Amino acid sequence: MQPETTLSAVVQEQAVRASPSQERIPVAVAYGDGIGPEIMDAVMRVLDAAKAPLSYDTVEMGEKVYQRGFTSGITPETWATIRRNRVLLKAPITTPQGGGYKSLNVTLRKALNLYANVRPAKSYAPFVPARHPDMNVVIIRENEEDLYAGIEHQQTSEVVQVLKLVTRPGCERIIRYAFEYARAYGRHKVTCMTKDNIMKLTDGLFHRVFNEVATEYPDIQAEHQIIDIGAARLADTPERFDVIVTLNLYGDILSDIAAQIAGSVGLAGSANIGSQAAMFEAVHGSAPDIAGKGIANPSGLLVAATQMLVHVGAPDTAELIKNAWLRTIEDGIHTADVYDPKTSRVRATTQEFAEAVIARLGEEPRHLPPVRYRAGGVNVTPSPVARSEKQLVGVDVFLEWNGANRSSNLLGQMLEEAAPEPWLLKMITNRGVKVYPDGLPETFCTDHWRCRFMPVEGGAVNFDQVLALLAALHGAGMDVIKTEHLYTFDGRPGYSLGQGE
Ligand code: NAD
Repeated sequence: MQPETTLSAVVQEQAVRASPSQERIPVAVAYGDGIGPEIMDAVMRVLDAAKAPLSYDTVEMGEKVYQRGFTSGITPETWATIRRNRVLLKAPITTPQGGGYKSLNVTLRKALNLYANVRPAKSYAPFVPARHPDMNVVIIRENEEDLYAGIEHQQTSEVVQVLKLVTRPGCERIIRYAFEYARAYGRHKVTCMTKDNIMKLTDGLFHRVFNEVATEYPDIQAEHQIIDIGAARLADTPERFDVIVTLNLYGDILSDIAAQIAGSVGLAGSANIGSQAAMFEAVHGSAPDIAGKGIANPSGLLVAATQMLVHVGAPDTAELIKNAWLRTIEDGIHTADVYDPKTSRVRATTQEFAEAVIARLGEEPRHLPPVRYRAGGVNVTPSPVARSEKQLVGVDVFLEWNGANRSSNLLGQMLEEAAPEPWLLKMITNRGVKVYPDGLPETFCTDHWRCRFMPVEGGAVNFDQVLALLAALHGAGMDVIKTEHLYTFDGRPGYSLGQGE
Protein backbone atom coordinates (compact mmCIF):
# COMPACT_ATOMS: atom_id res chain seq x y z
CA MET A 1 0.00 0.00 0.00
CA GLN A 2 1.22 3.47 -0.86
CA PRO A 3 1.85 5.62 2.19
CA GLU A 4 -0.90 8.17 2.53
CA THR A 5 0.21 11.67 1.64
CA THR A 6 -0.72 13.70 4.62
CA LEU A 7 -2.72 16.86 4.56
CA SER A 8 -0.16 18.79 6.55
CA ALA A 9 2.56 17.79 4.14
CA VAL A 10 0.37 18.64 1.15
CA VAL A 11 -0.67 22.10 2.32
CA GLN A 12 2.86 22.98 3.35
CA GLU A 13 4.18 21.91 -0.04
CA GLN A 14 1.40 23.84 -1.82
CA ALA A 15 2.31 26.93 0.14
CA VAL A 16 5.95 26.77 -0.81
CA ARG A 17 5.10 26.19 -4.47
CA ALA A 18 2.40 28.86 -4.63
CA SER A 19 4.43 31.71 -3.27
CA PRO A 20 8.00 30.96 -2.28
CA SER A 21 8.59 34.45 -0.85
CA GLN A 22 5.52 34.61 1.36
CA GLU A 23 4.60 30.95 1.82
CA ARG A 24 0.93 31.74 2.12
CA ILE A 25 -1.26 28.72 2.78
CA PRO A 26 -4.73 28.99 1.22
CA VAL A 27 -7.66 28.38 3.56
CA ALA A 28 -11.40 28.54 2.95
CA VAL A 29 -13.23 30.74 5.44
CA ALA A 30 -16.95 30.53 6.24
CA TYR A 31 -18.33 33.48 8.22
CA GLY A 32 -21.36 31.49 9.37
CA ASP A 33 -24.60 32.71 10.94
CA GLY A 34 -25.67 34.51 14.11
CA ILE A 35 -22.53 35.70 15.91
CA GLY A 36 -20.40 34.01 13.21
CA PRO A 37 -19.51 37.13 11.17
CA GLU A 38 -18.63 39.16 14.31
CA ILE A 39 -16.33 36.57 15.80
CA MET A 40 -14.77 35.72 12.42
CA ASP A 41 -13.99 39.43 11.87
CA ALA A 42 -12.27 39.52 15.24
CA VAL A 43 -10.28 36.35 14.48
CA MET A 44 -9.23 37.70 11.07
CA ARG A 45 -7.94 40.88 12.69
CA VAL A 46 -5.78 38.84 15.08
CA LEU A 47 -4.52 36.56 12.27
CA ASP A 48 -3.59 39.60 10.16
CA ALA A 49 -1.87 41.34 13.07
CA ALA A 50 0.12 38.17 13.78
CA LYS A 51 1.07 38.01 10.08
CA ALA A 52 -0.31 34.49 9.76
CA PRO A 53 1.10 32.95 6.57
CA LEU A 54 -2.37 32.33 5.17
CA SER A 55 -4.48 33.50 2.23
CA TYR A 56 -8.25 33.37 2.47
CA ASP A 57 -11.09 32.32 0.17
CA THR A 58 -14.45 33.26 1.64
CA VAL A 59 -17.06 30.55 1.09
CA GLU A 60 -20.80 30.57 1.52
CA MET A 61 -22.58 28.04 3.71
CA GLY A 62 -25.35 27.99 6.30
CA GLU A 63 -28.75 29.52 6.82
CA LYS A 64 -29.03 31.59 3.63
CA VAL A 65 -27.81 28.69 1.52
CA TYR A 66 -30.35 26.36 3.15
CA GLN A 67 -33.05 28.94 2.39
CA ARG A 68 -32.02 28.99 -1.27
CA GLY A 69 -32.96 25.32 -1.47
CA PHE A 70 -29.63 23.56 -0.85
CA THR A 71 -30.69 20.95 1.73
CA SER A 72 -27.14 20.48 3.04
CA GLY A 73 -26.55 24.22 3.45
CA ILE A 74 -23.59 24.26 1.07
CA THR A 75 -23.25 25.24 -2.60
CA PRO A 76 -21.30 23.41 -5.33
CA GLU A 77 -18.90 26.41 -5.57
CA THR A 78 -18.16 26.10 -1.87
CA TRP A 79 -17.40 22.39 -2.25
CA ALA A 80 -14.98 23.19 -5.05
CA THR A 81 -13.19 25.85 -2.99
CA ILE A 82 -12.90 23.61 0.07
CA ARG A 83 -11.57 20.76 -2.06
CA ARG A 84 -9.01 23.09 -3.61
CA ASN A 85 -7.88 24.70 -0.36
CA ARG A 86 -8.18 21.55 1.79
CA VAL A 87 -8.50 23.60 4.97
CA LEU A 88 -11.67 25.25 6.24
CA LEU A 89 -12.03 27.71 9.11
CA LYS A 90 -15.71 27.75 9.91
CA ALA A 91 -17.80 30.02 12.11
CA PRO A 92 -20.93 28.46 13.63
CA ILE A 93 -23.93 27.82 11.41
CA THR A 94 -27.60 28.03 12.35
CA THR A 95 -29.39 24.80 11.50
CA PRO A 96 -32.87 25.78 10.26
CA GLN A 97 -35.82 24.45 12.23
CA GLY A 98 -38.07 21.86 10.62
CA GLY A 99 -37.48 18.72 8.63
CA GLY A 100 -35.69 18.18 5.34
CA TYR A 101 -32.42 19.87 6.27
CA LYS A 102 -29.23 17.89 6.67
CA SER A 103 -26.70 18.78 9.34
CA LEU A 104 -23.92 20.71 7.66
CA ASN A 105 -21.31 19.34 10.03
CA VAL A 106 -22.27 15.73 9.40
CA THR A 107 -22.31 16.41 5.65
CA LEU A 108 -18.85 17.99 5.74
CA ARG A 109 -17.45 15.23 7.93
CA LYS A 110 -18.74 12.44 5.71
CA ALA A 111 -18.06 14.06 2.34
CA LEU A 112 -14.53 15.16 3.21
CA ASN A 113 -13.62 11.97 5.05
CA LEU A 114 -12.72 13.77 8.25
CA TYR A 115 -11.68 10.79 10.32
CA ALA A 116 -10.41 12.51 13.47
CA ASN A 117 -12.32 14.80 15.78
CA VAL A 118 -10.06 16.72 18.14
CA ARG A 119 -11.55 18.46 21.13
CA PRO A 120 -9.30 20.07 23.71
CA ALA A 121 -10.97 20.80 27.07
CA LYS A 122 -9.00 23.04 29.37
CA SER A 123 -9.53 25.07 32.51
CA TYR A 124 -8.19 28.59 32.75
CA ALA A 125 -8.47 28.87 36.52
CA PRO A 126 -8.12 31.02 38.50
CA PHE A 127 -8.71 33.55 35.70
CA VAL A 128 -11.91 31.83 34.59
CA PRO A 129 -13.45 29.94 37.55
CA ALA A 130 -13.42 26.16 37.01
CA ARG A 131 -14.27 23.11 39.06
CA HIS A 132 -11.11 21.32 37.91
CA PRO A 133 -8.44 24.01 37.82
CA ASP A 134 -5.65 21.81 36.45
CA MET A 135 -7.65 20.13 33.73
CA ASN A 136 -6.01 20.18 30.29
CA VAL A 137 -7.13 17.22 28.22
CA VAL A 138 -7.60 16.59 24.51
CA ILE A 139 -10.10 14.01 23.33
CA ILE A 140 -9.21 12.51 19.95
CA ARG A 141 -12.19 10.63 18.63
CA GLU A 142 -12.40 8.34 15.62
CA ASN A 143 -15.08 9.95 13.48
CA GLU A 144 -16.22 7.51 10.80
CA GLU A 145 -16.42 3.93 12.02
CA ASP A 146 -17.72 1.99 15.02
CA LEU A 147 -21.48 2.07 15.65
CA TYR A 148 -21.77 5.24 13.56
CA ALA A 149 -21.31 3.45 10.23
CA GLY A 150 -25.11 3.51 10.18
CA ILE A 151 -25.64 -0.17 9.26
CA GLU A 152 -28.75 -1.26 11.12
CA HIS A 153 -31.30 -3.98 10.45
CA GLN A 154 -34.44 -5.34 11.99
CA GLN A 155 -34.02 -9.09 11.77
CA THR A 156 -36.98 -10.57 13.57
CA SER A 157 -40.19 -9.27 15.14
CA GLU A 158 -38.27 -8.73 18.35
CA VAL A 159 -34.69 -8.01 17.40
CA VAL A 160 -32.82 -5.15 15.76
CA GLN A 161 -29.09 -4.90 15.30
CA VAL A 162 -26.41 -2.36 14.48
CA LEU A 163 -23.06 -3.33 13.01
CA LYS A 164 -20.05 -2.07 14.89
CA LEU A 165 -17.39 -1.77 12.21
CA VAL A 166 -13.81 -1.30 13.27
CA THR A 167 -11.02 -1.47 10.71
CA ARG A 168 -7.28 -1.82 11.16
CA PRO A 169 -6.46 1.14 8.87
CA GLY A 170 -9.10 3.21 10.68
CA CYS A 171 -7.61 2.35 14.10
CA GLU A 172 -4.09 2.96 12.94
CA ARG A 173 -4.85 6.33 11.39
CA ILE A 174 -6.56 7.76 14.47
CA ILE A 175 -4.03 6.29 16.90
CA ARG A 176 -1.07 7.60 14.90
CA TYR A 177 -2.85 10.92 14.70
CA ALA A 178 -3.10 10.97 18.52
CA PHE A 179 0.62 10.29 19.00
CA GLU A 180 1.63 12.79 16.31
CA TYR A 181 -0.70 15.33 17.87
CA ALA A 182 0.88 14.74 21.27
CA ARG A 183 4.33 15.40 19.82
CA ALA A 184 3.30 18.48 17.81
CA TYR A 185 1.57 20.01 20.84
CA GLY A 186 4.25 19.11 23.36
CA ARG A 187 2.07 16.66 25.27
CA HIS A 188 3.45 13.69 27.16
CA LYS A 189 0.86 10.97 27.54
CA VAL A 190 -1.74 9.25 25.36
CA THR A 191 -4.47 7.20 27.05
CA CYS A 192 -6.39 4.73 24.93
CA MET A 193 -9.91 3.86 26.11
CA THR A 194 -11.79 0.77 24.95
CA LYS A 195 -14.09 -1.95 26.28
CA ASP A 196 -11.93 -4.80 25.05
CA ASN A 197 -12.64 -6.95 28.09
CA ILE A 198 -16.08 -7.45 26.47
CA MET A 199 -15.59 -6.65 22.75
CA LYS A 200 -12.43 -8.64 22.25
CA LEU A 201 -12.34 -8.43 18.46
CA THR A 202 -13.49 -4.86 17.71
CA ASP A 203 -12.24 -2.91 20.73
CA GLY A 204 -9.49 -5.53 21.05
CA LEU A 205 -8.20 -4.51 17.61
CA PHE A 206 -8.15 -0.84 18.62
CA HIS A 207 -6.22 -1.67 21.80
CA ARG A 208 -3.79 -3.95 19.97
CA VAL A 209 -3.03 -1.38 17.28
CA PHE A 210 -2.58 1.20 20.03
CA ASN A 211 0.04 -1.01 21.69
CA GLU A 212 1.82 -1.53 18.36
CA VAL A 213 1.88 2.14 17.38
CA ALA A 214 2.90 3.23 20.89
CA THR A 215 6.22 1.42 20.52
CA GLU A 216 7.14 3.88 17.75
CA TYR A 217 6.71 6.82 20.14
CA PRO A 218 8.98 6.02 23.10
CA ASP A 219 8.98 9.72 24.04
CA ILE A 220 5.23 9.62 24.72
CA GLN A 221 3.83 7.68 27.66
CA ALA A 222 1.10 5.26 26.58
CA GLU A 223 -1.59 3.68 28.76
CA HIS A 224 -4.91 1.92 28.34
CA GLN A 225 -8.03 2.17 30.46
CA ILE A 226 -11.34 0.40 30.21
CA ILE A 227 -13.80 3.03 29.00
CA ASP A 228 -16.25 2.87 31.91
CA ILE A 229 -13.71 3.41 34.66
CA GLY A 230 -11.79 5.77 32.37
CA ALA A 231 -14.87 7.95 31.88
CA ALA A 232 -15.52 7.96 35.62
CA ARG A 233 -11.93 9.04 36.29
CA LEU A 234 -12.17 11.72 33.61
CA ALA A 235 -15.23 13.16 35.34
CA ASP A 236 -13.62 12.91 38.78
CA THR A 237 -9.95 13.76 38.25
CA PRO A 238 -9.54 15.07 34.70
CA GLU A 239 -6.10 16.48 35.51
CA ARG A 240 -4.65 12.96 35.36
CA PHE A 241 -5.28 12.83 31.58
CA ASP A 242 -3.37 14.47 28.76
CA VAL A 243 -4.46 13.09 25.35
CA ILE A 244 -7.23 10.49 25.14
CA VAL A 245 -7.77 8.47 21.95
CA THR A 246 -10.84 6.33 21.54
CA LEU A 247 -13.51 4.91 19.25
CA ASN A 248 -16.37 6.95 17.85
CA LEU A 249 -19.19 6.40 20.36
CA TYR A 250 -16.98 6.56 23.46
CA GLY A 251 -15.30 9.67 22.06
CA ASP A 252 -18.63 11.32 21.42
CA ILE A 253 -19.61 10.83 25.06
CA LEU A 254 -16.18 11.63 26.53
CA SER A 255 -15.82 14.90 24.62
CA ASP A 256 -19.13 16.15 26.02
CA ILE A 257 -18.16 15.09 29.55
CA ALA A 258 -14.82 16.86 29.20
CA ALA A 259 -16.35 20.03 27.74
CA GLN A 260 -18.96 20.16 30.50
CA ILE A 261 -16.59 19.74 33.43
CA ALA A 262 -13.91 22.08 32.02
CA GLY A 263 -16.42 24.91 32.34
CA SER A 264 -14.93 26.64 29.32
CA VAL A 265 -17.08 25.55 26.36
CA GLY A 266 -17.18 29.16 25.14
CA LEU A 267 -13.37 29.14 24.95
CA ALA A 268 -12.97 25.80 23.19
CA GLY A 269 -12.05 25.08 19.59
CA SER A 270 -12.43 21.82 17.77
CA ALA A 271 -10.92 20.25 14.67
CA ASN A 272 -12.09 17.61 12.23
CA ILE A 273 -9.17 16.15 10.36
CA GLY A 274 -9.00 14.03 7.21
CA SER A 275 -6.20 13.00 4.89
CA GLN A 276 -7.56 15.29 2.15
CA ALA A 277 -9.15 18.13 4.12
CA ALA A 278 -9.53 19.54 7.62
CA MET A 279 -12.07 21.80 9.28
CA PHE A 280 -11.57 24.01 12.33
CA GLU A 281 -14.33 25.66 14.34
CA ALA A 282 -15.48 26.78 17.77
CA VAL A 283 -17.34 24.24 19.89
CA HIS A 284 -20.29 26.59 20.54
CA GLY A 285 -23.16 27.40 18.16
CA SER A 286 -24.31 30.56 16.40
CA ALA A 287 -25.81 32.12 19.58
CA PRO A 288 -28.71 33.90 17.82
CA ASP A 289 -29.76 35.44 21.17
CA ILE A 290 -26.73 37.76 21.17
CA ALA A 291 -26.09 38.06 17.43
CA GLY A 292 -25.37 41.61 16.23
CA LYS A 293 -24.73 42.95 19.75
CA GLY A 294 -20.95 42.89 19.42
CA ILE A 295 -20.51 41.08 22.74
CA ALA A 296 -19.80 37.49 21.62
CA ASN A 297 -16.60 35.83 22.72
CA PRO A 298 -14.34 35.14 19.73
CA SER A 299 -12.06 32.86 21.81
CA GLY A 300 -13.41 29.47 20.66
CA LEU A 301 -12.89 30.36 17.01
CA LEU A 302 -9.52 31.96 17.74
CA VAL A 303 -8.33 28.83 19.55
CA ALA A 304 -9.57 26.77 16.58
CA ALA A 305 -7.56 29.06 14.28
CA THR A 306 -4.43 28.32 16.33
CA GLN A 307 -5.13 24.58 15.95
CA MET A 308 -5.37 25.22 12.21
CA LEU A 309 -2.03 27.03 12.19
CA VAL A 310 -0.28 24.12 13.93
CA HIS A 311 -1.95 21.71 11.53
CA VAL A 312 -0.78 23.51 8.39
CA GLY A 313 2.75 23.83 9.71
CA ALA A 314 2.77 27.38 11.08
CA PRO A 315 3.35 26.61 14.77
CA ASP A 316 5.22 29.86 15.46
CA THR A 317 2.21 31.98 14.54
CA ALA A 318 -0.03 29.63 16.52
CA GLU A 319 2.22 30.06 19.56
CA LEU A 320 2.33 33.83 19.16
CA ILE A 321 -1.46 34.11 19.08
CA LYS A 322 -2.23 31.52 21.75
CA ASN A 323 0.23 32.98 24.24
CA ALA A 324 -1.10 36.50 23.63
CA TRP A 325 -4.62 35.15 24.12
CA LEU A 326 -3.64 33.39 27.38
CA ARG A 327 -2.10 36.64 28.58
CA THR A 328 -5.31 38.52 27.71
CA ILE A 329 -7.34 36.03 29.74
CA GLU A 330 -4.86 36.35 32.62
CA ASP A 331 -5.06 40.13 32.48
CA GLY A 332 -8.76 39.85 33.25
CA ILE A 333 -9.96 41.16 29.89
CA HIS A 334 -13.07 39.07 29.43
CA THR A 335 -16.16 39.13 27.25
CA ALA A 336 -19.55 39.11 28.99
CA ASP A 337 -20.02 35.32 28.89
CA VAL A 338 -16.99 34.69 31.14
CA TYR A 339 -17.04 38.02 33.00
CA ASP A 340 -16.96 37.58 36.77
CA PRO A 341 -16.41 40.58 39.05
CA LYS A 342 -14.09 38.44 41.25
CA THR A 343 -11.68 37.47 38.45
CA SER A 344 -12.28 39.93 35.58
CA ARG A 345 -10.98 43.48 35.19
CA VAL A 346 -12.54 44.65 31.93
CA ARG A 347 -15.85 43.63 30.34
CA ALA A 348 -14.74 43.69 26.71
CA THR A 349 -16.76 43.71 23.51
CA THR A 350 -15.84 41.25 20.77
CA GLN A 351 -13.62 43.73 18.98
CA GLU A 352 -12.08 45.14 22.19
CA PHE A 353 -11.14 41.60 23.12
CA ALA A 354 -9.47 41.11 19.71
CA GLU A 355 -7.59 44.40 20.17
CA ALA A 356 -6.39 43.27 23.59
CA VAL A 357 -5.03 40.04 22.08
CA ILE A 358 -3.34 42.00 19.28
CA ALA A 359 -1.76 44.37 21.82
CA ARG A 360 -0.24 41.34 23.58
CA LEU A 361 1.23 39.61 20.53
CA GLY A 362 4.79 38.75 21.50
CA GLU A 363 3.93 38.47 25.21
CA GLU A 364 3.50 35.26 27.17
CA PRO A 365 1.24 34.38 30.07
CA ARG A 366 2.85 34.85 33.49
CA HIS A 367 0.87 32.31 35.52
CA LEU A 368 -0.66 29.88 33.05
CA PRO A 369 1.93 27.76 31.24
CA PRO A 370 2.79 29.22 27.83
CA VAL A 371 2.19 26.94 24.85
CA ARG A 372 5.02 25.48 22.74
CA TYR A 373 4.25 23.80 19.43
CA ARG A 374 6.58 21.69 17.37
CA ALA A 375 7.22 22.46 13.69
CA GLY A 376 6.16 19.99 11.03
CA GLY A 377 2.42 19.84 11.65
CA VAL A 378 0.63 16.63 12.45
CA ASN A 379 1.60 14.05 9.84
CA VAL A 380 0.11 10.61 9.65
CA THR A 381 1.68 7.96 7.44
CA PRO A 382 0.02 4.59 7.95
CA SER A 383 2.08 1.48 7.51
CA PRO A 384 1.06 -1.16 4.96
CA VAL A 385 -1.38 -3.75 6.31
CA ALA A 386 -0.11 -7.33 6.12
CA ARG A 387 -2.55 -9.71 4.43
CA SER A 388 -3.49 -12.79 6.45
CA GLU A 389 -4.05 -16.40 5.43
CA LYS A 390 -7.83 -16.82 5.71
CA GLN A 391 -9.61 -20.15 6.09
CA LEU A 392 -13.36 -20.85 6.27
CA VAL A 393 -13.92 -23.14 9.26
CA GLY A 394 -17.62 -22.85 10.01
CA VAL A 395 -20.75 -20.72 9.88
CA ASP A 396 -23.09 -19.01 12.30
CA VAL A 397 -26.64 -19.29 10.97
CA PHE A 398 -29.12 -16.84 12.46
CA LEU A 399 -32.75 -17.95 12.58
CA GLU A 400 -36.03 -16.38 13.52
CA TRP A 401 -37.86 -19.08 15.41
CA ASN A 402 -40.84 -18.75 17.67
CA GLY A 403 -41.99 -22.37 17.97
CA ALA A 404 -42.66 -24.79 20.85
CA ASN A 405 -42.39 -22.24 23.69
CA ARG A 406 -38.94 -21.40 22.40
CA SER A 407 -37.50 -24.65 23.69
CA SER A 408 -33.83 -24.52 22.77
CA ASN A 409 -33.53 -28.29 23.22
CA LEU A 410 -36.22 -28.88 20.64
CA LEU A 411 -34.62 -26.40 18.22
CA GLY A 412 -31.26 -28.08 18.71
CA GLN A 413 -32.68 -31.52 17.90
CA MET A 414 -34.44 -30.19 14.79
CA LEU A 415 -31.23 -28.58 13.52
CA GLU A 416 -29.14 -31.66 14.19
CA GLU A 417 -31.59 -33.75 12.19
CA ALA A 418 -31.65 -31.26 9.30
CA ALA A 419 -27.90 -30.58 9.00
CA PRO A 420 -26.16 -32.56 6.20
CA GLU A 421 -22.63 -33.90 6.43
CA PRO A 422 -20.04 -32.67 7.35
CA TRP A 423 -21.85 -30.24 9.63
CA LEU A 424 -22.08 -30.53 13.40
CA LEU A 425 -24.23 -28.17 15.45
CA LYS A 426 -21.70 -26.84 17.98
CA MET A 427 -24.05 -24.61 19.94
CA ILE A 428 -27.03 -22.30 19.87
CA THR A 429 -26.95 -18.93 21.57
CA ASN A 430 -29.73 -16.48 22.28
CA ARG A 431 -28.58 -12.87 22.76
CA GLY A 432 -25.05 -14.26 23.00
CA VAL A 433 -25.79 -16.73 25.84
CA LYS A 434 -25.38 -20.43 25.14
CA VAL A 435 -28.76 -22.20 25.30
CA TYR A 436 -27.86 -25.49 23.59
CA PRO A 437 -26.45 -27.92 24.47
CA ASP A 438 -26.69 -27.61 28.25
CA GLY A 439 -28.53 -24.29 28.45
CA LEU A 440 -29.76 -22.90 31.74
CA PRO A 441 -33.51 -22.77 32.41
CA GLU A 442 -33.30 -19.14 33.59
CA THR A 443 -32.02 -17.74 30.27
CA PHE A 444 -34.54 -15.44 28.64
CA CYS A 445 -34.95 -16.26 24.96
CA THR A 446 -36.12 -14.03 22.15
CA ASP A 447 -37.09 -15.15 18.63
CA HIS A 448 -33.49 -14.65 17.37
CA TRP A 449 -31.15 -17.67 17.46
CA ARG A 450 -27.52 -17.93 16.50
CA CYS A 451 -26.68 -21.51 15.52
CA ARG A 452 -23.01 -22.35 15.15
CA PHE A 453 -22.09 -25.10 12.70
CA MET A 454 -18.60 -26.51 12.23
CA PRO A 455 -17.41 -29.63 10.41
CA VAL A 456 -17.47 -32.83 12.49
CA GLU A 457 -13.76 -33.41 11.98
CA GLY A 458 -12.81 -29.75 12.37
CA GLY A 459 -10.65 -28.04 9.74
CA ALA A 460 -11.71 -26.22 6.60
CA VAL A 461 -15.07 -26.20 4.80
CA ASN A 462 -16.03 -24.66 1.49
CA PHE A 463 -18.72 -22.30 0.32
CA ASP A 464 -20.73 -25.04 -1.43
CA GLN A 465 -21.00 -26.89 1.88
CA VAL A 466 -22.34 -23.72 3.50
CA LEU A 467 -24.92 -23.38 0.72
CA ALA A 468 -25.90 -27.04 1.16
CA LEU A 469 -26.39 -26.45 4.89
CA LEU A 470 -28.55 -23.38 4.28
CA ALA A 471 -30.61 -25.22 1.66
CA ALA A 472 -31.17 -28.10 4.09
CA LEU A 473 -32.23 -25.79 6.91
CA HIS A 474 -34.54 -23.89 4.58
CA GLY A 475 -35.94 -27.21 3.37
CA ALA A 476 -36.67 -28.17 6.98
CA GLY A 477 -38.81 -25.03 7.35
CA MET A 478 -36.26 -22.88 9.18
CA ASP A 479 -36.37 -19.11 8.67
CA VAL A 480 -32.73 -18.27 7.99
CA ILE A 481 -32.30 -14.51 8.47
CA LYS A 482 -28.58 -14.17 8.02
CA THR A 483 -25.25 -15.96 8.20
CA GLU A 484 -21.78 -15.03 9.37
CA HIS A 485 -18.86 -17.03 8.10
CA LEU A 486 -16.36 -18.23 10.66
CA TYR A 487 -12.80 -17.75 9.48
CA THR A 488 -9.41 -18.23 10.96
CA PHE A 489 -6.75 -15.68 10.05
CA ASP A 490 -3.24 -17.11 10.12
CA GLY A 491 -4.72 -19.89 12.24
CA ARG A 492 -6.31 -17.57 14.83
CA PRO A 493 -10.11 -17.61 15.19
CA GLY A 494 -11.73 -14.46 13.76
CA TYR A 495 -14.92 -14.92 15.77
CA SER A 496 -15.93 -14.69 19.40
CA LEU A 497 -16.99 -17.65 21.47
CA GLY A 498 -20.53 -17.80 22.85
CA GLN A 499 -20.94 -17.02 26.53
CA GLY A 500 -20.57 -20.38 28.23
CA GLU A 501 -19.06 -22.02 25.12
P1 NAD B 1 -25.15 28.09 21.26
O1 NAD B 1 -23.81 27.54 21.58
O2 NAD B 1 -25.25 28.88 20.01
O3 NAD B 1 -25.66 28.99 22.47
C1 NAD B 1 -25.81 28.52 23.80
C2 NAD B 1 -25.65 29.70 24.77
O4 NAD B 1 -24.27 30.07 24.82
C3 NAD B 1 -26.42 30.94 24.35
O5 NAD B 1 -26.88 31.59 25.51
C4 NAD B 1 -25.37 31.81 23.69
O6 NAD B 1 -25.62 33.19 23.77
C5 NAD B 1 -24.10 31.43 24.44
N1 NAD B 1 -22.91 31.51 23.58
C6 NAD B 1 -22.53 30.63 22.63
N2 NAD B 1 -21.42 31.04 22.04
C7 NAD B 1 -21.06 32.19 22.63
C8 NAD B 1 -19.98 33.09 22.45
N3 NAD B 1 -19.03 32.86 21.53
N4 NAD B 1 -19.93 34.18 23.22
C9 NAD B 1 -20.86 34.41 24.14
N5 NAD B 1 -21.89 33.61 24.38
C10 NAD B 1 -22.01 32.50 23.62
O7 NAD B 1 -26.14 26.84 21.22
P2 NAD B 1 -27.66 26.76 20.75
O8 NAD B 1 -28.41 27.96 21.21
O9 NAD B 1 -28.11 25.42 21.16
O10 NAD B 1 -27.61 26.77 19.17
C11 NAD B 1 -27.82 27.91 18.36
C12 NAD B 1 -27.67 27.53 16.90
O11 NAD B 1 -26.32 27.10 16.65
C13 NAD B 1 -28.56 26.37 16.45
O12 NAD B 1 -29.08 26.65 15.17
C14 NAD B 1 -27.61 25.19 16.39
O13 NAD B 1 -28.04 24.24 15.44
C15 NAD B 1 -26.35 25.87 15.94
N6 NAD B 1 -25.11 25.14 16.30
C16 NAD B 1 -24.12 25.14 15.36
C17 NAD B 1 -22.91 24.53 15.64
C18 NAD B 1 -21.85 24.54 14.58
O14 NAD B 1 -21.98 25.20 13.57
N7 NAD B 1 -20.76 23.81 14.78
C19 NAD B 1 -22.69 23.92 16.88
C20 NAD B 1 -23.71 23.96 17.86
C21 NAD B 1 -24.92 24.58 17.54
